[in-house]
Amino acid sequence: MNRMNNPEGDDPRIIDCHVHFTDLESDGRFLEIMDIANIDKMNLLSTIDALKLNFNPELIYMKRSYPHLFYIFGALEYPAWIYSGTNLDSRRVKRTSLVKQVDELMDIGFDGIKMIEAHARWRKYVGPLNNRRYKEFFKHVESLQFPLLMHARASELGKRSYDTELRRYNEKQYPLWVRQAGWQHPLLKKARIEVADMIQRCPDLKVIFAHFGGLAYVSPEQTPYILDSYKNLYLDVTPGMMMYNWTERRDEWREIFLKYQDRILFGTDVSSRQSLDVAVELIQRVRRFLETEDPVTWGFIPKREPTIGFNLPEHVLRKIYAENFERVVGKNPKELKVEAAIAKCERMAKMMRDAGPWPYRVKNTAEQVGNLLRQNRDD
Ligand SMILES: [Zn+2]
Repeated sequence: MNRMNNPEGDDPRIIDCHVHFTDLESDGRFLEIMDIANIDKMNLLSTIDALKLNFNPELIYMKRSYPHLFYIFGALEYPAWIYSGTNLDSRRVKRTSLVKQVDELMDIGFDGIKMIEAHARWRKYVGPLNNRRYKEFFKHVESLQFPLLMHARASELGKRSYDTELRRYNEKQYPLWVRQAGWQHPLLKKARIEVADMIQRCPDLKVIFAHFGGLAYVSPEQTPYILDSYKNLYLDVTPGMMMYNWTERRDEWREIFLKYQDRILFGTDVSSRQSLDVAVELIQRVRRFLETEDPVTWGFIPKREPTIGFNLPEHVLRKIYAENFERVVGKNPKELKVEAAIAKCERMAKMMRDAGPWPYRVKNTAEQVGNLLRQNRDD
């Protein structure tokens, strides 16, 4: 049965747990996307950014404007970065510890934290993800049971002992655009081992791995070992290349989806950089893959198209679409605490001003959102 084309069927509630919002002017388009694609709520993710620190102010704005529609996962601040190349003495920059930043995000009403630090492009700058400050950070997040959505691979967790010796990196195995975007890099392997080290030290960490944690590249045999060992570990189905591997061993992977139906979350990677049509089409494609066994093409690796969807039963879809997210993160988005949000925006705005003048137009969104929040409060 193709539920998506079934006008009589009840539309399931859907929360998209993996959405990027980076532009204040896109809010209208996001409401339209949700309306057309039948998305009830979205979880907006902030990422660290070389020019703007991160997109936390943009997310605060969305929660302020539409409190019932958007969960928000904040990014950490790495100010030394935006100051590099300026005349500022970075030793004199006042840093806020990662642990304190976690408390701030919670106080503001963020629903969780998003980390992309294990990506080679950022890992280069932030240093080992299992150094002292990250150890404190992960322990703290674990003790608070504050959800973390990580763009990282969980695959190293499947090994009983680590091969710490880094295998030579064969770049030819990846398409050029993947290499150029930094999605494949020798540092990734290091980052993977560091992340595994942290998860092993914090076995109760509530963590959602984006893009299925790269487990589609491991095997359907190893995946249960990881999911059984870490009961607080979740996987989102945000597309990467996984669908190709899933299709190759479709029945076995489908079994994994059935067996671990409480551990899998719906996500798409919709972003404010996409047009309405592209975003809606993307959401529909991921749904088609989960709901039907129709051929679905993605356009990444033509010779491996089409993929064949999982045709999951309705009660499993309901969990993946919304129930799992609500259990892990919360039945409703947390309430925004305006004073705490203003304080955060002001600090970020000042960092942006200090780091300027910028060579080209970079909006100080932190300042803009801070002002908006103050005006609303004083009205
Ligand atoms: Zn993403």
